[in-house]
Amino acid sequence: AAQKSTPATESVLEIDDVSKRFGDETVIENLSLSVEDGEILTLLGPSGCGKTTTLRLVAGLERPDGGEIRLDGDVVSGNGSFRSPEERGVGVVFQEFALFPHLTAGENVAFGLKEWDDDEREARVTELLELVGLSAQRDSYPDELSGGQQQRVALARSLAPEPDVLLLDEPFSNLDVDLRVRMREEVRRILKEAGVTAVSVTHDQEEAMSMSDRVAVVNAGRIEQIGRPEQVFQHPESRFVASFLGHASFLSGTVGHDGVSTALGEIPRERIHGLAPEYEGSAIELLVRPDDLEATPNPDGSGVVASRRYLGPTALYEIELDSGETVSCMHNHDVRLDRGDRVSLSLAAAHDLSWFPEGAETVVDR
Ligand code: ATP
Repeated sequence: AAQKSTPATESVLEIDDVSKRFGDETVIENLSLSVEDGEILTLLGPSGCGKTTTLRLVAGLERPDGGEIRLDGDVVSGNGSFRSPEERGVGVVFQEFALFPHLTAGENVAFGLKEWDDDEREARVTELLELVGLSAQRDSYPDELSGGQQQRVALARSLAPEPDVLLLDEPFSNLDVDLRVRMREEVRRILKEAGVTAVSVTHDQEEAMSMSDRVAVVNAGRIEQIGRPEQVFQHPESRFVASFLGHASFLSGTVGHDGVSTALGEIPRERIHGLAPEYEGSAIELLVRPDDLEATPNPDGSGVVASRRYLGPTALYEIELDSGETVSCMHNHDVRLDRGDRVSLSLAAAHDLSWFPEGAETVVDR
């Protein structure tokens, strides 16, 4: 039987110092994480970093080798106890949405409600189909539904039994790009409307950032950083996070009294995130993303366009600076720059720039 943990908490899900090995390989290493009531949290990381294993540990499909998992304060894994998946009140949506092909949309949604009264079950199915916008498709079979509709039925089916926590494992990866983008918005709305606590897994940074209240960036079985999407994107605490979340260039600079001198000129101190006075004289590297910079054709500029990549609404330019550094910048088509054009660069970022001590992999305590 599960034991009640002592401290009362608002967290619906707590993963506490959990490790998981397969043979000699440690796949999850001392991972801790808590998810608040109604929160959508996404585990984001490269293939093989342990995201799916983390979800399977929470669902009760794997046993941890160390640590504890608590749901609503009850220990469900660890400390000598282990609850089966059925006893956990956790819903799961996997990438292959696996609806029952011989059941209608309505019957699929009703599947987990066998023990409910007929009236209540009917009412719940009606409510869920409405929530996912498929009331008219109640009697359709899966093969009569589009991929996006099938995925919404799968979501409704997982939400129907009122799980405490919903786990979503790459739920959109089988959908085409357009639909994937629409489904992110849709699923976020549905989860918020249902007030469900959700943990989702993806390797797609755009999906993570657009769907989640918080993002946990996972690297080799460990959480590198956790925070709101803006926080992790604009103020990454490691180079891994900086580069995994989007295009990142690093610009060397020396901290002076009023600012940082770089190949782009002096950048005022107040434009730099958390740069304390004691850093004066230090060598640092500023993180610049393509939309932080603006390039203007200028024969006396300090850089040359090395390449141009057309991306539809924008183009991504690589600029080689006279200092030997390369930075990227993004522009719409108001400005047309070609390879070999000389440009000057200025800072366009509305936010303050992050930085790393020279050569450091992570932000040290600052
Ligand atoms: P992906 O995005 O590719 O699904 P992931 O981050 O979800 O990756 P996991 O599926 O959690 O990663 O796998 C993490 C590591 O654990 C991988 O190296 C994988 O090969 C290994 N692994 C997962 N399940 C098992 C298992 N049952 N037995 C042995 N090794 C496993």
